[in-house]
Amino acid sequence: MNESIFQACFRLFLYFGVWVVVVGFVYSQELVSGSRIGIAIHGGAGTILKENMSPEEEETYRAELREALLVGYEILKGGGSSLDAVEKAINILEDSPLFNAGKGAVFTNSGTNELDASIMDGKTLNAGAVAAVKHTKNPISLARLVMEKSPHVMLVGEGAAVFAEKLGMKPVPQEYFYTEKRWLQLQKIKAREKSVAPDKPVPRGSQSRTEKFGTVGVVALDQDGNLAAGTSTGGMTNKRFGRVGDSPIIGAGTYANNQTCAVSATGHGEYFIRGVIAYDVSALMQYGGLSLAEAADKVIREKLGAMGGSGGIIAIDREGNIAMPFNTAGMYRGYMDRNGKPVIRIYRD
Ligand code: ASP
Repeated sequence: MNESIFQACFRLFLYFGVWVVVVGFVYSQELVSGSRIGIAIHGGAGTILKENMSPEEEETYRAELREALLVGYEILKGGGSSLDAVEKAINILEDSPLFNAGKGAVFTNSGTNELDASIMDGKTLNAGAVAAVKHTKNPISLARLVMEKSPHVMLVGEGAAVFAEKLGMKPVPQEYFYTEKRWLQLQKIKAREKSVAPDKPVPRGSQSRTEKFGTVGVVALDQDGNLAAGTSTGGMTNKRFGRVGDSPIIGAGTYANNQTCAVSATGHGEYFIRGVIAYDVSALMQYGGLSLAEAADKVIREKLGAMGGSGGIIAIDREGNIAMPFNTAGMYRGYMDRNGKPVIRIYRD
């Protein structure tokens, strides 16, 4: 008798235990699938080789990328929008002198800084962009204002500056963007240009394939399943005649669509514009049925490579899958893994 009561209790205890485990598992699955978020970041692609970088220098880049990634991730974790995550994470990189965006932007041929940026909302397909702005500390924030507070998609130069001031954005002097490293880069390219083609007004190839592209970009997926992408840059060193690259061009350097993915690019902009690179990844998914990894890989390795262009992209799909293909030696990049841990990479491996 005593033994059977003991057995019954044990059975009850066992049932209860199994029940707790099953309910706990279902609940945790729901929580995970209901709040899947994701974020990826880049700080430019190019000839980034381990042998050319000191451990300290490498750690500085890693730390900045990690900080920006965490700022974006915290916003997403707190239920914030992918647009906020993209903008705020890019602001960190724009304010850092390490990257070719905001402070630390590259110089034009005439020694000025002209910045480009764009942002896109995958839910509405709304987008905003600015090009050749000279006094905006955070061009990605101005691009967002263009998207949200104007009926337009892209504003350039003086007009964009007037718009910025109207909306209360304080202009910064050109000196704000100065860094010695970028100034010396311009002098080096100019000297090379002179020695290679002294008589040509616009020597081709002065933006060589071995150059570093320090543009920054972020793609994100929020708890509501909305995707967003943003890109900010100083363009390419020694650019002239009001040259605008791919970064502010929707479909070339930036694209987001909730049905497919969000993409931000870095590399030799002329090729990304001609190849409509960012949109191509989305189109291959939407019309070709490719996965994010297949589409991203195809566009960078096959299309961009075949055109002779160099660079890379970061991309995220609506399930939170991330792809980061590039055809240069390296690309500053990072993402948050499924356990909420930042992963930062620089070189090919
Ligand atoms: N894509 C940018 C441009 O062509 C350069 C970069 O990625 O750093 O303006």
